[in-house]
Amino acid sequence: MGRARMVSEQLRRRDIVDPHVLAAFGDVPREEFVDDDLKELAYEDSPLAIGFGQTISQPYVVAMTVQALRLEGFEKVLEIGTGSGYAAAILGKLVREVHTVERIPELAHMAAERLARLGYQNVQVHVGDGSLGWPTNAPFDAIAVAAGAPRPPPSLLAQLAIGGRCIVPHGEASSQRLVRITRRRDDEYVEEDLGDVRFVPLVGAEGWPHGH
Ligand code: SAM
Repeated sequence: MGRARMVSEQLRRRDIVDPHVLAAFGDVPREEFVDDDLKELAYEDSPLAIGFGQTISQPYVVAMTVQALRLEGFEKVLEIGTGSGYAAAILGKLVREVHTVERIPELAHMAAERLARLGYQNVQVHVGDGSLGWPTNAPFDAIAVAAGAPRPPPSLLAQLAIGGRCIVPHGEASSQRLVRITRRRDDEYVEEDLGDVRFVPLVGAEGWPHGH
């Protein structure tokens, strides 16, 4: 399976219709974001191991998240859970500025090196506990959380601009509901259900305790 087939069979044939999102998935080489021994599986319809017990998410799940952010191109976006850097690269194609936070320094450094080598100059990788967001660059027009939380982290919601959207999986450690939370006003948030998903845990002060 190649990149064009992944876009047509895994994304367009499901419910990914945003032409900008489809084009971004057609542009970003997913094989660059996995180890050499997994490159031939890069366009499979599944997550893949990236070391440290973590995964690069299934392409469709990344596409569903990115499409649900309703991006227009001018946005400053925060991603929590850099992992391989693949989703950050996709976001980098779609918006003005991306900040992505990873708690495992080795993964963050590998992703930063990769993103720089591939020329994603509008993506900045930060090391830290992303359950607390990234206050230095807040507020954000959109926030994508790529790890499952027990509940939507309040710090993340506080760092949303008015009108901003946060996509976050939350629920049990083994399975979660993916939701879009829109900040309508300073103190008004609206939550919509996007379906069931299974993410690795968000580990941190406003996530699961370490070793959960
Ligand atoms: N978006 C990634 C990609 O495209 O490869 C996949 C992310 S992977 C499913 C989830 C990532 O979230 C892991 O790399 C994990 O280490 C990270 N993570 C978990 N808790 C975190 C936290 N509190 N802050 C930042 N990153 C966290």
